[in-house]
Amino acid sequence: MKVLLLFPPSWHPSQPYLSLPSLTAFLRQNGVSDVVQRDINIELLDILLTEKTCREIHQKILDKLRHIDSSGLSSCGAPFDQERRRALIHAVETIPALAKKVEPAKHTLRSEGFYDLERYIESVSTINDALGVLSAFHYPSSMTAINNDMRYSVYSSREIFTALGDEEENIFLNLYKDHILASILEFSPTIVGISITSTSQIIPGLTLAKLIKDRNKDTHITIGGSVFTKLIENVKKIDGLFSIVDSFIVFEGEHALLDLAEQVNGKRDFKKVRNLIYRDNNSIRINEPFFAEDLNKLPTPDFDDLPLRLYHAPVSVLPVQTSRGCYYRKCAFCNLHLDHRNFRLRRAELLLEDIRKLSQKYHTPYFFFTDESVPVNQLREISHGLLENKQEIKWMGGVRFENALSHDVIGKMYE
Ligand code: SF4
Repeated sequence: MKVLLLFPPSWHPSQPYLSLPSLTAFLRQNGVSDVVQRDINIELLDILLTEKTCREIHQKILDKLRHIDSSGLSSCGAPFDQERRRALIHAVETIPALAKKVEPAKHTLRSEGFYDLERYIESVSTINDALGVLSAFHYPSSMTAINNDMRYSVYSSREIFTALGDEEENIFLNLYKDHILASILEFSPTIVGISITSTSQIIPGLTLAKLIKDRNKDTHITIGGSVFTKLIENVKKIDGLFSIVDSFIVFEGEHALLDLAEQVNGKRDFKKVRNLIYRDNNSIRINEPFFAEDLNKLPTPDFDDLPLRLYHAPVSVLPVQTSRGCYYRKCAFCNLHLDHRNFRLRRAELLLEDIRKLSQKYHTPYFFFTDESVPVNQLREISHGLLENKQEIKWMGGVRFENALSHDVIGKMYE
């Protein structure tokens, strides 16, 4: 049983996302030893941001421009063709200079230069400028280090399906084919899990799923992450999704993925897989009631396989979690609390142990609490624990301004 977990573009390149390391640790703890996790977002960014790739794409843009000019579209074409030609010319003119700057810019973000505000801003804008002109090949689509923009709406299933096969405008189709797909197929996974946690990952994530499925029908592809957890009713109605993927895992994925591995390897009785949405003959089934993990029984996340040195930060910053769900749930503008059915804590001593182990294993004192909102009591306990254990940790996390957030607590957090 080979399980491959993938995190597609586009996402912040400063640190790994927690979903894959949490799932990997749980599967390995429960006997699924052949699990590989890959952050395709950071892998692709690293490939794109090299002088060599910039020059290759420059040549492709040049060829495309010549083709457009020889076909006569440049002079008598529609306004769109003329705009596209202008974008391609701009790319041809600017890529050579940017190609020389992208690797130094990455280096700055991964070194002490990161802390120099001017150099930081210059490096980020070099990277975004480069990605912008490189994506001119797929005009009007464009990408930055943290986002991508295509003409297709991610709120329309019809448009998403069209985007998945659009060689002209889907930025990721050729990037995957040129740089990622072969290594995935070579691993020959039994299950591929793709984590889609933001709308910017919907088209890139499903594009990857389709490419794998088209080449290997037997691989079970499951989509996890918070986007489709919020869209359970929609998933049920869009039958076409199940020709690209085999299932969706909604809410939390640890036990669900383990159940799925057992069923894919065994009797394929998918109604036994917690939190699964799948097609059974001609109907879409949702396995309810949904299951919520006991956070005190989960292992420390496992970041092995992830290329920590590739992230755009001078030190490794590791995500950890003291809770799932939001204990407040009342902010009118927020839908984050929909990702979990109820609020649960991980005991402070377990979290302190996570931090101790991870800090030692990955040689970093930097942690990011990914909780929707870290409860103040938990902050107090964690701060006391870190001080007692004399752990030299630097951390950040999101907190509500509560009355309980006293001078005393903030003082301890600072210490
Ligand atoms: S506290 Fe944070 S997660 Fe909770 S509802 Fe408000 S904004 Fe959303």
